[in-house]
Amino acid sequence: PNANLFAALRANFSDDLDACAIELADGPDAGQRYSWRDIDRATAMIANLLDSLDLPAGSRVAVQTEKSVEALLLYLAVLRAGYVYLPLNTGYQAAELEYFIGNAEPAVVVCAGKHFGWISKLAFQAKVPWVFTLNEDRSGTLLDRAVQMPDTHQVAAKQPDDLAAILYTSGTTGRSKGAMLSHGNLLSNAEVLRHAWGWRADDVLIHALPIFHVHGLFVASHGALLAGARMLWFNRFEPRAVIARLPDATLFMGVPTLYVRLLEQATLTAEACARMRLFISGSAPLLIETFQEWQRRTGHTILERYGMSETVMLTSNPYRAEDGPRRGGTVGFPLPGVGLRVVDDAGAPCPSTGEGEIGHIQVRGPNVFSGYWRMPEKTKEEFTPDGWFKTGDVGRRDEQGYVTIVGRSKDLIISGGYNVYPAEIEGWLNELPGVAESAVVGVPHPDFGEGVIAVVVPRAGATLDGTTLIAALKDRIAGFKVPKRVFVDTELPRNAMGKVQKNLLRERHRALFG
Ligand code: ATP
Ligand code: MG
Repeated sequence: PNANLFAALRANFSDDLDACAIELADGPDAGQRYSWRDIDRATAMIANLLDSLDLPAGSRVAVQTEKSVEALLLYLAVLRAGYVYLPLNTGYQAAELEYFIGNAEPAVVVCAGKHFGWISKLAFQAKVPWVFTLNEDRSGTLLDRAVQMPDTHQVAAKQPDDLAAILYTSGTTGRSKGAMLSHGNLLSNAEVLRHAWGWRADDVLIHALPIFHVHGLFVASHGALLAGARMLWFNRFEPRAVIARLPDATLFMGVPTLYVRLLEQATLTAEACARMRLFISGSAPLLIETFQEWQRRTGHTILERYGMSETVMLTSNPYRAEDGPRRGGTVGFPLPGVGLRVVDDAGAPCPSTGEGEIGHIQVRGPNVFSGYWRMPEKTKEEFTPDGWFKTGDVGRRDEQGYVTIVGRSKDLIISGGYNVYPAEIEGWLNELPGVAESAVVGVPHPDFGEGVIAVVVPRAGATLDGTTLIAALKDRIAGFKVPKRVFVDTELPRNAMGKVQKNLLRERHRALFG
């Protein structure tokens, strides 16, 4: 049997090939529908175009375009033709693209027409033989060429270990690394999630996430395609427009910031969510207040899950009531087939009695990537001798098996020889009156090695004062954990996936203590 992920997805397309698979929900062409047959034919044409270029086996196809259904079709076509898909964050500028193109050496680059000038120049310098354009309105050289191709195509034969995609990590903790994911990694995870989240053919997924990242490209799209379920496709996340379509949908996936923005709208009501089956959150920690507020407003309990570019999905809160409650602040249980352990600095297992002891999270399973693209040293460092991948996340597993992420090992602060976990201090800060959210980081300190500092964002209408907050914390927690300075700001720096960019905060305040 062919282990090509596309073959598996296509085998699960709706039996009625003329049924709607994707409905475009925003922009000038809102209402446009793509049937399952359209997906099959369009991916065949694009795959035939790629085949006609005589690319060497294993060629990378790097794509930086605005989100569109056609960009998703391009991804599927790359799988279908057996090449390696490499999505790039739409926010990346010249210096970043130069790094990615230089590092990945793609054979094909697809970019937005408006960026063709500078991207084609970069591509030319890097000796990339093919550059195509693809725009949101379906114009561009890629589709111009593809429409001249036959609309049938034999899916390329693949083994489970063959490379399907290279996903560059978000670069939250340093330079992005290209995670090499195989057809087997992606398909095994999609199948596990299909069962874990009870995907059904009559589901309707609101797809409002970017597609250059695991969440929108794999978790959301594979889920719907593998179930033969329909997607309501938003090229942009606009809270009011999404809420207006909730009554037509059964499933929604978002990063925490999307939930926060939806909650700001008065139109978000239990009535609007009456048909919804499941709300899923991930990519960054969901604040417990958001989790609770969502329950109050909609009657739905958000299911939080945890994953990363290198491993796709690792843990999930339970979908079915008989498997236990969805616990806010936790990321649930390891998914079937995923091995997860929490170990101390020496590699010994941390006990999971009571709340569980905090340690490093390591994982293994059919979903775990084979390594970082062209970084054999880094790859070796991030695997233990017995084959577990070091996630770089710090967390604990409690007696019932629920996993809680408390931060990243790189964000761990060592102040005066004591370990300070930023998430713990952030939790205390967030409980103080008037605090909406906070970020705690360590910056160089002449006496303590690192000094703990915090940035807090006030709730709407509240005024905060750093000194008062520090005094309030001193009554609650040990002195070495209390931030030496607390800055008040209007927002925290976040990337496109809603992750707080602590590296920027550290950079901003690095000279604070001289
Ligand atoms: P880099 O590896 O380049 O520093 P990154 O780790 O942010 O960037 P991604 O692979 O996009 O890049 O993100 C994976 C990380 O996101 C996880 O390691 C974890 O820290 C975080 N994450 C994902 N889901 C959750 C969640 N539900 N709760 C808390 N953190 C999460
Ligand atoms: Mg990472």
